[in-house]
Amino acid sequence: MSSHSPTASRSRHRAARRLDGVGATIFAEMSALATRTGSVNLGQGFPDVSGPSAVVDVAVEAMRAGRNQYPPGHGAPELVAAVAAHQRRHYGMDFGADQVVVTTGATEAIAGAVLGLLDPGDEVVVLEPYYDSYRAMLQIAGAVRRPVTLRAPDFRLETAELEAAVTERTRMILLNTPHNPTGHVLSQAELAGVAEVARRHDLLVVTDEVYEHLVFDDHRHVPIATLPGMAERTVTISSSGKTFSLTGWKIGWATGPADLVAAVEGAKNWLSYASGAPFQPAIAHALDHEEGFHRDLRASLQRRRDRLCSGLADLGLGVHVPQGTYFVTTDVSGLGWDDSLAFCLALPERAGVVAIPAQVFYEEASPEGRHLVRWAFCKETEVIDEGLRRLRAADLAR
Ligand code: PMP
Ligand code: GLN
Repeated sequence: MSSHSPTASRSRHRAARRLDGVGATIFAEMSALATRTGSVNLGQGFPDVSGPSAVVDVAVEAMRAGRNQYPPGHGAPELVAAVAAHQRRHYGMDFGADQVVVTTGATEAIAGAVLGLLDPGDEVVVLEPYYDSYRAMLQIAGAVRRPVTLRAPDFRLETAELEAAVTERTRMILLNTPHNPTGHVLSQAELAGVAEVARRHDLLVVTDEVYEHLVFDDHRHVPIATLPGMAERTVTISSSGKTFSLTGWKIGWATGPADLVAAVEGAKNWLSYASGAPFQPAIAHALDHEEGFHRDLRASLQRRRDRLCSGLADLGLGVHVPQGTYFVTTDVSGLGWDDSLAFCLALPERAGVVAIPAQVFYEEASPEGRHLVRWAFCKETEVIDEGLRRLRAADLAR
C-alpha cells in the first residue's frame, strides 16, 4: 500500500496580484532557449571564465576552516571593511561599518532599497531602458515608475526630461551607470543635472553601479554620491559579480548614510537575512588584493567589444558602441525587423545564436526600444567569433 498521495502538477490558486505581468526574467528565458537549441549565448551577461583563482582559493580555505554557518546579516567584518576601503581608495568616500551592508548580489540591495525606502504610491524616476529587476521590485513595493528615456544614438540623459518627470509624489531617482543595456556612462555634466534635480526636490537617489570598473576608452565612472549635497541622500549599490567575473556567488553591497543603509538592511533582513558565508572573505580578499584583475578585464573587454561591434556592423546592424558594461545595443531595423522580440526568437533557428530583445527594458506601449537588440561581449573571443561566424552564414533579413 502506498503511503504517499499523487503529486499535483497544478493548483486552483493564483499568484499574488503584485506579480501580475512581472513574469520570469528575460535572461533566464533566453539562456534556457540557448541551451535548448544549442545556440551561442550572447544573451545573459555572465562571463564563461571564472574570476581570479586566488579568490577561489580563499573561498575554499574559508569552507575548510568552517565558515559554513550564517555570517552576520550585516556582512562579514572583513568584507564590510574591504568595501569601505574600496570606496575610499577609488572615490574618496568615507564610510564607517554602519554605512555598509552586504547583500545577496546587487539584486538584493536593489530589492532592499526599494522595499526599505519606498511606501506604496511613491513615485520613482527611473532611466528607460531599465534593468528588469527595477520594474519587478517597484511593482512588488507598490511604487509607481516614472521613466525618463535615454535615446539612441548617444543615450544621453536630458536634465529637462528628468525634471519634467518629477511630481510632488516623487521620492526617489533610481539611477544606473554604467548603464545596462545601453552601455552609456553618465558624464559629469549629466550627473550634475541629476544632482541638481535631486537637491531641488529633496529626493533620495539609489544608484546601481555594478559596472563601475568596466568602462572603456577615456570614459570615467563617477559615483553620484561624490557630487556636492549628494552623499546625504544617496545609496550606492555594487556587486562583485561583474568586477571579478564571479556572478554566481551573488555577493553585493550598498553604501550610504547610516539611516538609509539601515533601511536597506531592515528589508534585507527579511529577504535572505544573510548568505554566501565562505564567499564573503574571498571577495574581501579580491577587493583588497586583486584589483589587477578588473584592470586587465577592462582592457580585454574593450578588445572584445570592438570585435563584436565591428562584426555586427558588417552584418548590416546599426551598432551603438558602448562606453561601459559588457553589452552592445544594436538596431535591427536595417535588416527589415521592427520587432526585436520576433528577431531574437527567430535567431536560434536561423543562426544558432541567442541575444536579448531590448524592448523588454521599455514601457510596454513605448515604440523606443522596439527594434533594439542587446548582445553580450563578456564571452571568450572564440565564442564571439563563433557567434559572428554563424550570424554571417545565416539569412538575417526579415
Ligand atoms: N544591476 C544591473 C544593472 C545588472 O546588470 C545586474 C546583473 N548582474 C545586476 C544589477 C544584478 O547584480 P547581481 O548579480 O550582483 O545581483
Ligand atoms: N545582469 C545580467 C544581464 O543583464 C543578468 C543577470 C540575471 O540573469 N538576472 O544580462
